[in-house]
Amino acid sequence: MEMFVAGDWVDRAEKIEVRDPFDDAVIDTVPAANSKDVESVLAASVEGSRVARAMTTYERSKVIGRVGDLVEERAQNFAQLIAREGSKTIREARKEVSRCVNTLRSSAEEARRISGETIPFDSFPGGEQRKGYYERMPVGVVLAITPFNDPLNLVAHKLGPAIAAGNAVILKPATVTPLSAIELTRVFQEAGLPPQVLQTITGYGSVIGDPLVSDERVRMISFTGGVEAGKHITALAGIKKIGMELGSNSPVIVWHDADLEWAVETCVSGAFWAAGQNCIGVQRIYIHQDVYTEFRNAFVDRTASYKIGDKLDEATDMGPMITEEEAARVEQWVGKAAESGAAVLTGGGRSGTLVQPTVLEDVPPSVAVHCEEVFGPTVNLYPVSDAAEAIAEANSLNFGLHAGVFTRDVDTAFKIAGGLECGGVMINDSTDYRLDTMPFGGVKNSGLGREGIRFAIEELTEPKVVCWLLRNA
Ligand code: NAD
Repeated sequence: MEMFVAGDWVDRAEKIEVRDPFDDAVIDTVPAANSKDVESVLAASVEGSRVARAMTTYERSKVIGRVGDLVEERAQNFAQLIAREGSKTIREARKEVSRCVNTLRSSAEEARRISGETIPFDSFPGGEQRKGYYERMPVGVVLAITPFNDPLNLVAHKLGPAIAAGNAVILKPATVTPLSAIELTRVFQEAGLPPQVLQTITGYGSVIGDPLVSDERVRMISFTGGVEAGKHITALAGIKKIGMELGSNSPVIVWHDADLEWAVETCVSGAFWAAGQNCIGVQRIYIHQDVYTEFRNAFVDRTASYKIGDKLDEATDMGPMITEEEAARVEQWVGKAAESGAAVLTGGGRSGTLVQPTVLEDVPPSVAVHCEEVFGPTVNLYPVSDAAEAIAEANSLNFGLHAGVFTRDVDTAFKIAGGLECGGVMINDSTDYRLDTMPFGGVKNSGLGREGIRFAIEELTEPKVVCWLLRNA
């Protein structure tokens, strides 16, 4: 596929191969952009922001809504593309496409709701003869950088709100999964978006990232990815707005009065969705000691029944990890945990990119599978004896995206939810739940700011005050 720079589809001699992580087959190639391409997109984005700002709300809303319709019409093609270029099974990929349609349609709706309010300038002496309002203006040029694990919907979460708000966007999709993003860019063109408003540049983050991130023409960086890249980008950005949707190590608390069958089912899914490569995937489960053994046995049985393998097979529950390097890292982390005293209750093995769904207990707090984001198909079980301990353990790491609590008792739910330090608490569900329109984001190293259409639009715009001094009133 080609990239879309300054209104043209362009190719380059240097290419990046996009491989299916299941069988290593080359699906396609994309250009590896160079520093001249970076300058071209930056220059074109300035004109793009003028064009975007001049579009009416109605035009922006109509284009984005049309993109939603076209993605829905081509849902099967998009699902195949997601399942081929990334880690998701075809069933997981279909779900991502339908969520992408919701994200786009909600962006089209929210475009019409961007507004300001009048300001009571006479609130204090001296303002009696003033009248005015504030409106929200687009920030200008938005640099959107996206990760590999949701190659379509997380791109829609950048493009939908940014364009709804009247911005121009430079999109830098994940190096390993750029195809869904390029197809979505094509659909935006087909739906009638002026070509300068959205540009999609492919290449290595390490090569084209720094000059894009540090350029003053970019007024906001909207980044979704790992903490390491997030810290690098934040340090380099200079004076511009920054949105950071980063990783986590999500805790779930299962209380003695919980519906254990449901808790097992949803936590297994939450731990192994997209082979655990999910920013809100379940990584640590704190179980009340009275039900620990019952939960553990059922959890291990359900995990062991998971069918792993070919992503395009409807019966497959879990596909491969994104690269063999990543799969080897997870295998090594599990090995280190086992050497340090953790028990591997099921899984632990690997064949190429396929890592077995793995359940651990007796995990020492010093090992990586406990204190880092694994971003792979492993989960740790721990017994706890009271709510204070469960809350303290859940909060003990430098992440805070989602947490889950399973209990039938309202007081317990309120108490635990109140004590958790994170962006969202799911009661009677795993951490792996997100409505695309809810405020979504983290605290601590999990991020800065919020996405979720309306909340993203808030970040992607600036209030501008207009104040009249009525001299003869
Ligand atoms: P990553 O940080 O390796 O890469 C993310 C993006 O940043 C890619 O497009 C990459 O090319 C680019 N990049 C890397 N270095 C860069 C640089 N120096 N300058 C500019 N761009 C650069 O992450 P990944 O492996 O693709 O994704 C996994 C991570 O993303 C996990 O940590 C996961 O938790 C996180 N994530 C967070 C959310 C969220 O909404 N909070 C959602 C999905 C994934």
